[in-house]
Amino acid sequence: MNQLDTYRHKGLRKELAVKLRDKGIADQNVLNAIETVPRHLFFGNDTIFFETHAYEDKAFQIGEGQTISQPYTVARQSELLEISPREKILEIGTGSGYQAAVLAVLGARVFSIERHRKLFERTKPLLEQLGYSHIKCFFGDGFEGAPSYAPYDKIIITAAVPELPKKLLQQLTIGGKMVLPFGSEANCDMVRITKHAEGQYSEEVFGKFAFVPMLKGRVF
Ligand code: SAH
Repeated sequence: MNQLDTYRHKGLRKELAVKLRDKGIADQNVLNAIETVPRHLFFGNDTIFFETHAYEDKAFQIGEGQTISQPYTVARQSELLEISPREKILEIGTGSGYQAAVLAVLGARVFSIERHRKLFERTKPLLEQLGYSHIKCFFGDGFEGAPSYAPYDKIIITAAVPELPKKLLQQLTIGGKMVLPFGSEANCDMVRITKHAEGQYSEEVFGKFAFVPMLKGRVF
């Protein structure tokens, strides 16, 4: 890693992990990943501001009207995915790349789609530069998924979904799980869907969250 990650940053990350544990994140692997990934390097240009704020449990603007998710949300979605090493995971909404990096540290083989060309063009090289070059980034519409690499063991959607994306359900393995914020952006339920057979699913709900909306099509 050729950008600055100091002992101070590491200390702040340790404190953040403790805070997330207090808020109910129980999976130690997820807490370790939060302690490992240098969140302050995922914000784009305004580094001085983010040096101080990156390890607060808050979402922030990352440009193009999009946000880097709150650490608690990243940790909770990661925990609900119940990742085993080497699993193939598809993420919808690359954004800053932070969630993708956390999944990679958890040992997953990560594929991630972003519909905003500018964010895609910023984040793909950033992930490479930070040493996460094994994450495969696509510029595309997440509603279509990434069929050429399907099926996936897990799918995570990081934007509020108004309707169940059928093509994504098709790209899930039997026994696979999808974690998604379902509903309108300010008020959605965190839902985990398990695929038992083609066309046969069960659903669990894990509380209210706020997300930017998942939108159709690409933005050039
Ligand atoms: N996982 C990101 C969160 C970014 S916010 C992070 O860790 O920073 C959600 C992202 O989803 C935004 O970047 C938004 O542009 C993207 N998005 C919304 N609808 C999408 C779609 N249909 N396909 C792909 N990305 C989408």
